[in-house]
Amino acid sequence: MKFGGTSVADIERIKNVARRVQREVESGNQVAVVVSAMSGVTNQLVAWVNQLSPLHDAREYDTVVATGEQVTSGLLAVALQEMGVNARSWQGWQIPLQSDGVHGKARIQRIDKTELDRRLTDGQVAVVAGFQGIGPDNRITTLGRGGSDTSAVALAAALNADRCDIYTDVDGVYTCDPRLVTKARKLAKITYEEMLEMASLGAKVLQTRSVEMAMNHRVRVQVLSSFSDAPGTLVVDEDEIVEKEVVSGIAYSRDEAKITLTRVADKPGVAAAIFGPLADASINVDMIVQNVSEDGRTTDMTFTVTRADLQRAVKVLRDAGKKLGFEEIKPDANVVKVSVIGVGMRSHAGVALTMFRTLAEKGINIEVISTSEIKISVLIDEQYLELALRALHTAYGLDAA
Ligand code: ASP
Ligand code: MG
Repeated sequence: MKFGGTSVADIERIKNVARRVQREVESGNQVAVVVSAMSGVTNQLVAWVNQLSPLHDAREYDTVVATGEQVTSGLLAVALQEMGVNARSWQGWQIPLQSDGVHGKARIQRIDKTELDRRLTDGQVAVVAGFQGIGPDNRITTLGRGGSDTSAVALAAALNADRCDIYTDVDGVYTCDPRLVTKARKLAKITYEEMLEMASLGAKVLQTRSVEMAMNHRVRVQVLSSFSDAPGTLVVDEDEIVEKEVVSGIAYSRDEAKITLTRVADKPGVAAAIFGPLADASINVDMIVQNVSEDGRTTDMTFTVTRADLQRAVKVLRDAGKKLGFEEIKPDANVVKVSVIGVGMRSHAGVALTMFRTLAEKGINIEVISTSEIKISVLIDEQYLELALRALHTAYGLDAA
């Protein structure tokens, strides 16, 4: 069982979590619990470190931000003990949950489960601080923001758990963000691959890396609410889903910015000359289109980066501009990426056409397109986001009855 920040936001909610854990114990399960920090706490800790030094020592950053989870693990253990449930807390270093040494976004390498296993068998609940591990230099590491999802899935894999229940403030995975599309439906099941696309294309329910890990280790994950008893969404293998929709969900991301370089020379090596300096500056490029050149000599090149990287990307390109040779650089931060996702696309034709037609009917211009086997993404003007989502949701037959 994993509980996110809003589920452990105050003492009353921690007691609520304890009651849920107790219920599982009483129905005969061995339970390991992973907790996040109380909501808002990690942001506060990060802000304090940045106030002291924007270019801080990443090892000390981890020392500070990992404390949020230490608090909740201890509090939940106390709450459980108070209810008569045998429980103890575990910090990453105590297990140990070994990670690499990339402080601030470390990857889990090994979980020593010997002692945990022994105590679970003895009927003790393990309350594990999420988000944290111990690095090769024997110092505390953290797994990147939202990392306790990954802690939970990794622990479930290591312990061979029947299931990894991720409790959060929404009651499952929806066909689209219900705040924007009122007809969005909760999915009973979704495949790992679809969930992976959803998470990396903007849906914020699960940390992308946790889905990757669940897929690789075949951990059955359930996303559900800690505030209701409704069943959640199961993230499972494709063959567990009998009736597959062609499109299962629609995701969006506002964290996009577009850059167009006009009149770039149309000759070998130019793409490498553009994207090389961006890669050197650790700027990730996502969608790319190169237009046909009208005169056979120059072409326009459009691509996207995250909004946070836009200014830096423009600077890198300006600096490289003398060598590159282009006419103009046009940055645009008012764009969003809308993606339709579904494993059914592999076997159905016309899915892209439906998307293009639907957007055309609403007069929405598509600026960039990219596709993979199970998703189609388009970049559109931000002001049309809600209109596009609703129209596509209807067009793919996803609307709730
Ligand atoms: N508390 C950490 C964060 O806010 C980890 C998590 O909640 O998953 O990023
Ligand atoms: Mg989270």
